[in-house]
This record gives sequence, structure tokens and C-alpha cells, in this order.
Amino acid sequence: MKRTILSAAALLLFLTACGQSADDPARDTVRTADVFAMDTYMNLKAYGSHADEALQAAQERIAGLEQMLSVTNSGSEVYAINHANGKPISVSPETAAILETAHQVRMESNGALCISLYPLLKAWGFTTDSLQVPSDETIAAELRRADDDQIRLIDGELTLPEGMEIDLGALAKGYTGDAVIEEMRKCGVTSAIISLGGNVQALGGKPEGDALEPWSVGITNPFAPDTNFGIVQVQDQAVVTSGNYERFFKDDDGNLYWHILDPEDGRPADNGLVSVTVIGSSGLRCDALSTALFVEGTERAEEHWRAAGDFEMVLVTSDAKVLVSEGIADAFTSTSDLPYEVLHYDENA
Ligand code: ADP
Ligand code: MG
Repeated sequence: MKRTILSAAALLLFLTACGQSADDPARDTVRTADVFAMDTYMNLKAYGSHADEALQAAQERIAGLEQMLSVTNSGSEVYAINHANGKPISVSPETAAILETAHQVRMESNGALCISLYPLLKAWGFTTDSLQVPSDETIAAELRRADDDQIRLIDGELTLPEGMEIDLGALAKGYTGDAVIEEMRKCGVTSAIISLGGNVQALGGKPEGDALEPWSVGITNPFAPDTNFGIVQVQDQAVVTSGNYERFFKDDDGNLYWHILDPEDGRPADNGLVSVTVIGSSGLRCDALSTALFVEGTERAEEHWRAAGDFEMVLVTSDAKVLVSEGIADAFTSTSDLPYEVLHYDENA
């Protein structure tokens, strides 16, 4: 009798995570879900007998994070931060983790990543879709309000100077990717692939018969966004792309403006790159990096990659060349006629 009670208790423990017991590699089952959240289309695919519960848990997690991180929803944490009028407010561990990574990548990129550009993004209309080129005066004035150095996060208490507003759009999907993978893992899933807009993240490998193979992830051709220029093969990694084709508009003279701004001049970052894909183990870090490297431009991105040593990248330059970092070169296959070169660890190689 005692034994039965014990095993029932043990079962209950297992059930709490996701209503199922731990790992089951039943690979013939595959489930998918399409979600529209965070202003983008998401697709989730999980394998094995826990796939259904995993997708359910994943969708709940996405909804919760969207509610927390949305800059426009008046019930969100970011909204509360932006309306705190200089007073400290206590933030969730999720927001704190995103802020820590933003700080880290901002330091590595010499300020290319700047989460306090939100007032300027509003002036360009990127958050509301009333897109317009602001006057030089407006750009200068809104840029003066941006300064990530003045963001204080101490023991979960965040303080922004009055008038400053932040936007975590450059990192939110990356954090969400990590969280979704974590939910799936907790449910006992060992093979899954998710795509959150331009962010792809893989859990384990792809079941092929009895074997596991790497996932093939296509990278969008910025010059023809309904095609890919190449694929990378990955397992257990995030593949995150920032491109100038994702959100943009044209003025009456045909000039193109896109949603990643250069904190140097407050205008769309135009430093030689039109697309940056970052491959690494953390979706959050890859997302922060993809935006930062895009702003840094070709040369600084290359230096940043060498100095960091914990991510790989595929760059597309404005003159239509593909640059693939050495650590991912063997896993990269070109599928277009864009010429490509390998960036070597040793600059003189
Ligand atoms: P996407 O959201 O299109 O996948 P990114 O991850 O590169 O692309 O994030 C771009 C978003 O980040 C913009 O929509 C804007 O909200 C914000 N942003 C724009 N420029 C910067 C910048 N220099 N630093 C931090 N965030 C930025
Ligand atoms: Mg990003």
C-alpha cells in the first residue's frame, strides 16, 4: 500500500511539468502549430508522443511573453516601464534577463544596440505603420532622449530617466524562442523546430527513420525575399536573421527606409549590410547580435565575431556578396548565384 502511494506521488511530480512523463522518442508523430503573435507569423513543429502538450505549453508561453513585452499594449510590463516617469519599478526575471543581454551586446558592439531608441522609432512610424521620414530637427531631438547608459537595473528594480522609453523589439523574439524550446524540453520533447518571424530555433536534431539529422534552415535572400540564398545545417541552435527587407517603406523619390536604426545618426542603419544571420546556442543573444551587427556594418561585424568567439554569422553586403564565418562554413550551402566568401578566424589566412 505504501508503495502505491509513493509511486502515485512520483507520477504526480512528473505530471506537473506538462501532463506527461519524461522523454519518449516516438519519432513518427509530428505536430505543427501556426501562431500570429508579436506582430509576426510563427510556426512550431514538435516530434514525438509529447508533441501536442508541448505545442500547447509553447503557445501559452508565447501569449504570456507577448503580453509582458509588448511596447504598445497598455497592460504590458514594458508599457509600465515607459510610463514610470523616472520612478523605479520592479521587473520580472524575464525582462531583467533581456535587459542584461541588451547591456552586454551594447557594450560589445560599442553602442550599436540601443533599446532606448523607441521615441525615435515612433517618429519614423515603425511601431504604428504610419511610416514617414521625420525632419532633421525631430530626429535630433528624439535621438537626444536615447541613452542606454542611463538605464539602471539593480536587484530587479529598473529606473529610466524621465522622458526615456525603451523597446525590446530587437531581442523579444529571441528570448521567446529560448522560452519555447525550454517549454518543449520540459514536456519531454527532444526534437523540434520553431520559426518566429526571422528567428529559427532547433531542439535536438531532425528525426529521419531511426537516425537524427541536422535541420536545414533556409536564409532569406534580401534581394528576393520569397527565395533563399543559402541553407545552414544546425542542431540545438538558433539561426536569427535581421534584414532590411523585413519592415521598410519608400519615399516619393524611391528612397528606401528600414526599421533598424543607427544610434549614430538616428537613420536606417546603412553600413554595408542588408542582412545578418547569427547562429549560436542562445536565441536571445543571437537576436541581440543580429540587430547589433547589422548596425555595426561589415568591418565592425567581422571584428566583433572574432572577438566574441561564441557565435557564427552569415552576412549579405549591400553589393550582394555573402560572407560566411569560418565556424559555420562547412554547414553552409549556397542555393543562389550570389557570390560568397569565407571569413577566416585568422585575418591573414
Ligand atoms: P526583426 O524584429 O525584424 O526580426 P530585429 O531583431 O533586428 O528584427 O529587431 C528590429 C527591431 O529592433 C526594430 O523593429 C526596432 O523595434 C528595434 N530597433 C531598431 N533599431 C535598433 C537598434 N539600433 N538597437 C536596438 N533596437 C533597435
Ligand atoms: Mg534582433
